[in-house]
Amino acid sequence: MKYALVTGGSRGIGRAVCLQLAKDGFAILINYRSAEQKAIEVKQLIEAEGGVAELLPFDVSDKEATHTALEAWAATHGKDDYIDVLVNNAGMRSDAVLLFMEDAQWHNVINTTLDGFYHVTQPVLKRMARKHHGRIINMASVSGIKGLPGQCNYSAAKGALIATTKALALEVANRNITVNAIAPGFIATDMTEGLDEESLKQGIPMGRFGSAEEVAHLVSFLVSEHSSYITGEVISINGGLYT
Ligand code: NAP
Repeated sequence: MKYALVTGGSRGIGRAVCLQLAKDGFAILINYRSAEQKAIEVKQLIEAEGGVAELLPFDVSDKEATHTALEAWAATHGKDDYIDVLVNNAGMRSDAVLLFMEDAQWHNVINTTLDGFYHVTQPVLKRMARKHHGRIINMASVSGIKGLPGQCNYSAAKGALIATTKALALEVANRNITVNAIAPGFIATDMTEGLDEESLKQGIPMGRFGSAEEVAHLVSFLVSEHSSYITGEVISINGGLYT
């Protein structure tokens, strides 16, 4: 059984990724910070389809909590069990123009996306490297490629996530580990609720927001053996919004 850890798996894109990777045959570790009931629902949906799932709650921005949870998981599983697929998906936004941005808005967004990547990936990578196989997917954003006004914090975090994706891909390529980023445009989830969808849609060539399931299918391809020669890439999924 191959294990896939999806951070922020309780809702939105992460939820769809958990359900898809379970269909693909992975045992799913559903990470979340606070939405326990939502995470339980994801686990139940996977089990109802005959899949395997465990809850693995921790706050990715908290290094100690993250390492403790991952060590506890390893201690309760066999010595050959390891996380073969890591989807660094947990993220948040807290928009404001830079002139009026508060310190907490800057740090919370960077800590969740960028520090979160570091806190989770380093311990997981140690075992992947020993096994000479692995897939790491980092959920970036169009905002990290293009920059969006009101999102200096989010653009900085996602831009840095893209840069570290490329650097790490080179470090671990000879271990048969691929590292890629996905850059979604506007995807209909809690994160985009409250945005002016009607007016934003007019700027999207396909004229609609994407779905979490569409992103999940891309993750499914990138973690499969069909993508074994793709690494260090940033793949946009945005209805033509920016390429
Ligand atoms: P969402 O619906 O708001 O879900 C966010 C998920 O991240 C939740 O499961 C949440 O868990 C988890 N999370 C947040 N902070 C966390 C932390 N510190 N530790 C652990 N888990 C944490 O967001 P989404 O739209 O699915 O976005 C998923 C990813 O795609 C994010 O990285 C986001 O930046 C990126 N993205 C989204 C869009 C979009 O249009 N939706 C576009 C581009 C990129 P709890 O609920 O338990 O806190």
